[in-house]
Amino acid sequence: MSNSEYADKRLKKIRNRIQSACRAAGRDESSVRLIGASKKQNAELVSYFAEHGLTDIGENYLQEAITKQGELADPTLCWHFIGHVQSNKTKTIATHFSWVHGVDRFKIAQRLAAQNPHREPIRLLLQLNIDAEPSKNGVLEPQAPALCAQILELQGIDLRGFMLIPKLRNTEPEKRAVFARARELLERTNQRYGCQLDTLSMGMSADLEAAIAEGSTMVRVGTDLFGERLPNS
Ligand SMILES: *Cc1c(COP(=O)(O)O)cnc(C)c1O
Repeated sequence: MSNSEYADKRLKKIRNRIQSACRAAGRDESSVRLIGASKKQNAELVSYFAEHGLTDIGENYLQEAITKQGELADPTLCWHFIGHVQSNKTKTIATHFSWVHGVDRFKIAQRLAAQNPHREPIRLLLQLNIDAEPSKNGVLEPQAPALCAQILELQGIDLRGFMLIPKLRNTEPEKRAVFARARELLERTNQRYGCQLDTLSMGMSADLEAAIAEGSTMVRVGTDLFGERLPNS
């Protein structure tokens, strides 16, 4: 199978999964955006997926992402930073990405806002530490609404919602329950502050169906789209 056929087949398979999940939830397929999580996948492979219509690319590692952006040089692609944002990297991230999913402190949002060199605001998602895991990044649920209110005041930033990476769960009801909590938190935040946050970046290869059932609007898919990642070098 050629790279092009491979990309076409894998992309169709994921789109079918998204379509079935949307149908089961009574949702329109266009309400879920597919982000190709392409860390440790090379630019050439990604280019075949782009050829077959993948337009949203999510990257975790800044240097790898910038190299890939240069190699792909495709102005139609929309780049999402889905890794953790360190404060000394905000300027580069603001320059190179349309969406930033991994923000969990006001200071980071403030720096991205101040350093955004573009006229367009940066779309930003607050990362939730939904399972309150001490080793994980993200803001805890009780603190999230007030942090949203603070970030909403910033110019140059368009806060759109939440991103989360829950712990692995075995059953469909358990997977759905954690995603439902994120959706409810978004609804409560909108009610409390009169805002219109509309984005839930949740669901990956193993749990995109459960995430879509609970209102996900962006699924970030790596392994089941591109294949196994290259081992750590
Ligand atoms: C790697 C990664 C993904 C994709 O994970 P898969 O299980 O390979 O689909 C999604 N989101 C983030 C933040 C990631 O780091």
